[in-house]
Amino acid sequence: MTREQLEARIRSRPHVQTKSPEQLTYSPEFPNLNTVMQNDVDGAWLCYGCGHENPLVHREGEHPFGYLDCGRCGSIFSGKDEPTQVLGHHVLEGAELTPVPSFASDNPVPYGIICPRCGLSHRGQRVAGPSFDKGLIGVSFSGIRCHCGTLSHTSWYRFSVGPSHDWRGDQIRALRRATTRRLERRTRELRVNTDASQPDFMDARE
Ligand SMILES: [Zn+2]
Ligand SMILES: [Zn+2]
Repeated sequence: MTREQLEARIRSRPHVQTKSPEQLTYSPEFPNLNTVMQNDVDGAWLCYGCGHENPLVHREGEHPFGYLDCGRCGSIFSGKDEPTQVLGHHVLEGAELTPVPSFASDNPVPYGIICPRCGLSHRGQRVAGPSFDKGLIGVSFSGIRCHCGTLSHTSWYRFSVGPSHDWRGDQIRALRRATTRRLERRTRELRVNTDASQPDFMDARE
């Protein structure tokens, strides 16, 4: 199966609707704009490198967000990129079997990993049986073979599926927040790099 065929299959899966009380009462900053923009999208991530806005749609099935590689520069989503709330990072790193707060068993597992080679997202698997504290259940991210052939590893980026009401309520504001975070991060890194290069600069001048 080619990537295009896999993407078509992922797109055919039902959209997972997340509703919240805020969604019903939220008053958007630009209500008219909101209705004409993409309403079947749950959020977006801004590429750290090029700033491209990549849409996020949460669908049922084993690939919750499809491919997370930048539509403009091709770089794969990592912790540097800035997502809106639907692509969260509220999950422990490292352990093969990860305790997470209990969720309804008929809901898709709201946790996943991203293949660092091709960017395909994979849903974690609910694991029955392990004895975690009350209110916690186990999700496993191990033994998942990506479409590109790579076997999942504990170092892969893990995500939680968050609410989409920031985007659905007011996507201009949600995007503006992500844009600000991206600029702040880039400014910080620029400053760090400048500081690091300072000694060389000073040496060269002397
Ligand atoms: Zn990019
Ligand atoms: Zn892959």
